[in-house]
Order: sequence, then structure tokens, then C-alpha cells
Amino acid sequence: MAKKPFASSADLGEKVETLEVLAEGVYALTAEGDPNVCAVEGEDFIVAFEARATPKAANDWLEQLREHTDKPVKYLVLSHYHAVRVLGASAYNAESIIAHEKTKFLIEERGMQDWASEFGRMPRLFREPDGIPGLTHPDIVFNDRLEIPLGGDRGSLVLQYCGRGHTAGDIVAWLPKQKILFAGDLVEAAAALYTGDAFHFDWASETLDNVKAFEAEVLVGGRGAVAHGREAVDAAIEQTRGFLNGMIEKVGEVHKRGGTLKEAFEATHEHLEPKFGMWPIFEHCLPFDVQRLWDEFEGTDWPRIWTDERDQEVWDQLQD
Ligand SMILES: [Zn+2]
Repeated sequence: MAKKPFASSADLGEKVETLEVLAEGVYALTAEGDPNVCAVEGEDFIVAFEARATPKAANDWLEQLREHTDKPVKYLVLSHYHAVRVLGASAYNAESIIAHEKTKFLIEERGMQDWASEFGRMPRLFREPDGIPGLTHPDIVFNDRLEIPLGGDRGSLVLQYCGRGHTAGDIVAWLPKQKILFAGDLVEAAAALYTGDAFHFDWASETLDNVKAFEAEVLVGGRGAVAHGREAVDAAIEQTRGFLNGMIEKVGEVHKRGGTLKEAFEATHEHLEPKFGMWPIFEHCLPFDVQRLWDEFEGTDWPRIWTDERDQEVWDQLQD
């Protein structure tokens, strides 16, 4: 069998982007499994959620948003530290960039390596990569909850930490009035999970329980279509949990019997493929996902840093 191309390096086709108006002044841009972005209008400003991979990619989104509102972006909220979510930040000219304090820490600790790693894995997302001015540094951080009043009778946008999950510092954004939740990469709707920097056990239990407790009517996950209605919202959350629990079960079995990482990968692939194999980035993510979960079973709490060398090593060892 021919060797699989590394991660998403051979997946260069443009995705169709769809801007959805979820409620008055509430926007989501989805892109067939590529990272989603959102925006919320305040009385005289915008809060943007997620920055995209480059200023060019961010500007492509802002251009579409400008057909609906010309208010300035006051706050740019980062759901977590991953390069494809943060490196487009300069395009927003935001007054402040908001993130969880762990996200700020992770950018300082591993932002440069993550940039190189994600560029190698998903080159398609990096439109005009030379336009990135450097790492994105949040200037407002919090560790539990932060409320942004939107002015007038628009209610507020609540930023909330739900526990460790996709990374150590994921946050969600919640509109209590409209019952709309932006879940970032804590929930994916029919897109594979990237868990290479994750805390699988926390994520599959308390963290997703906390996300579910919002009882959102509309949920925008990190990738995939918008979930409309309580049933679809809970289904997206439980699908995400199912992917995690399937991994925990299979990697756990192999680890417990003293098997190898490669055997854990094969058992997990075989188990998840029938249900999730058709989802975007399934083959891309799984080697990194299994490696990280294996590390957790080995007792490594803080995720090891991915570098482009380590990416290739793990890929060559598992996905051949
Ligand atoms: Zn991510």
C-alpha cells in the first residue's frame, strides 16, 4: 500500500465557506470541516471569536462580515492557542485580545513550535503565510468566567472555562439571551477530533458535561456544520464524547496488556474508522491523537510539544 501523505499536506482543495446569521447580530462562518469562526455585534462594536490561520484568511472572513455590519472589532476572543485559530489576529485591529490564562501561557511556551507544526500539517489553511507578523499575545486573560456586556438590550456574551479538554485552556462563548454557544474545538460536529494536546479523561467527562449544561439551542463547534435545536446540539456533544471514549477504550486495552503504541493505533483505527472514518481530517489526526492519549496512560500530564520533526516521526511510525 502506498504511504499516506503526511497529515493534510496533500489536501489543498478550497472548501466552500458559508456565512450563517444565527440571530440578529450573531454570525458564524463554517467551511466544510475547516475551522469555524464567529462574530457577535454589540451596540457599537463587534466581538470576534477565533482569528484564523493568517491575516489574509481573517480578512477573507471579515470581508464577508462587512456585508452585514461595519462596526469595529473591539474584542478578539481566542478559544485556545492553536496556530490555525490565532495567527490571523492582526487583521482584526482589535482593541483587546482575550483568552484563558493557560492559552497565554501555552503561546509563550510552545507557540513557535506549534506554528511550524500546524503549517506543515495543514498548509491549505495558511493563505499568504508571509503576512503573519508573529505570535499572537492576548492582553486580557481570565481563568474562570468573563462577561462582556453588549450594550442596549443585546444582553451579554459570557466567556467560560469548562475544564481541561482539547487543550489546557479552551473557553466557550455563550449568549444566554439567544441560547447560542460557540464551543471552539471542545465540540466538533461531524469532523474528526484533534486530541494531540488534549486531556482525554477530563474532556470526555466533566468538561463535556459542563458544555452540555448550557442547554444551548444552537451550537457552533470548532469544525463542521452549525447544530440547530436541542437534539442536534446534544448529538454533537455526545458524538464528540463517543470519539473520545472509543479512543480511551482501545488505547487503554492495549496499554493495559503491555502492547505497543503501534498496536494501540491499529486497534483504535479499526474501532473508530467505521463510524468516524469519513469525517474530515480523521486520518490526519489519529496518529497524533493516539500518541497523546498513550502519553496520558503513561502518566504524562502536561502534553509534550509537537515539533515538525516529532510530527514526522510519529506519522512514519504509525501511519504507514
Ligand atoms: Zn485546536
